Amino acid sequence: MLTGRCECGEVRFRIDGPARDSVTICHCSQCRRSSGHVWASTHAPFAALRFDAEAGLTWYASSDFAKRGFCRFCGSSLFYRLNDEDGIGIAAGCLDVPTGFRVGKHIFVKDKGDYYEITDDTPQLERF
Ligand SMILES: [Zn+2]
Ligand SMILES: [Zn+2]
Repeated sequence: MLTGRCECGEVRFRIDGPARDSVTICHCSQCRRSSGHVWASTHAPFAALRFDAEAGLTWYASSDFAKRGFCRFCGSSLFYRLNDEDGIGIAAGCLDVPTGFRVGKHIFVKDKGDYYEITDDTPQLERF
């Protein structure tokens, strides 16, 4: 079972079910700002997410259609969820290794920062 946590440990979770085994990297400006670089995430059914600690979990309405979950104590970016979806995006960087995951694709690549290149050979999509 996959486990993960924020940097300080005030949010700890398990994924009790199937998670997508490929990581999507989003280069949009909103993801870049909220994550500090790019938002790299897996995806799982929300019902499969079990919290062992959630004292730090705070939700930020980042648009009128989605919200982002972060830890209010340490600032770790943890989750992204569309308001009407059954699933949830989970930060790949917060998962305990080994995940067994690989990068699957890059999205919103036209919005990427100007200080890096995308150098792997996975698909680069203009949107998603
Ligand atoms: Zn924390
Ligand atoms: Zn994004």
